[in-house]
Amino acid sequence: MLLATSNLHKVGEMRELLPGVELEPLPDGYESPVEDGDSFEANALIKARAAHAKLGGAVLADDSGIEAYDLGGAPGIHSARYAGAAASDEDNLDKLLREVDAVGGDRRAAYVCVLALVEVDGTERVFEATCEGRLLPERRGTGGFGYDPIFVPDETGPDDDRTMSELTQAEKNAISHRGRAARLLAVHLADG
Ligand code: IMP
Repeated sequence: MLLATSNLHKVGEMRELLPGVELEPLPDGYESPVEDGDSFEANALIKARAAHAKLGGAVLADDSGIEAYDLGGAPGIHSARYAGAAASDEDNLDKLLREVDAVGGDRRAAYVCVLALVEVDGTERVFEATCEGRLLPERRGTGGFGYDPIFVPDETGPDDDRTMSELTQAEKNAISHRGRAARLLAVHLADG
């Protein structure tokens, strides 16, 4: 199965999450489509359909991001480019901290992941999952990527305030939006 993403962190996480599935990266020179959908689902489907149309075979695509409730769900589908087209993870995280600090709310947030699968015959399936938590005022930890250094997931319990960056990869996979969506996909693949 082709994994339609150029994000190496996502490739690594998905390989761990779907151990029985051979995930191939996009070929060199592949031109990614414009992600102009208005939802995670729309953008995941744009990526999966484009790769299926160009390259054939079964294609899996992920679209994900973080929603800060104090900001009405921003950055949401714009998470990868929140601070601008060429923004780094650091820039995006700094902007989120600035915006959330300015509002002074309860700092609740959720990661969202949609996995879109286009099967060999063109059949489409979508698997969506979230991971609820809160945003710290400063970074902690070195693991993970993106907004992980400021995101404390609820699922680890009220006495554990480690950020996603302070969890092991196995701990993150057990509770993350991508981990949950991947398990829904795995059930579908096992049934099929
Ligand atoms: P996409 O590649 O267009 O789906 O953008 C996803 C963006 O959302 C990433 O660049 C990160 O900023 C953020 N994101 C998605 N999943 C995670 C995660 O597991 N940890 C941290 N940030 C994430």
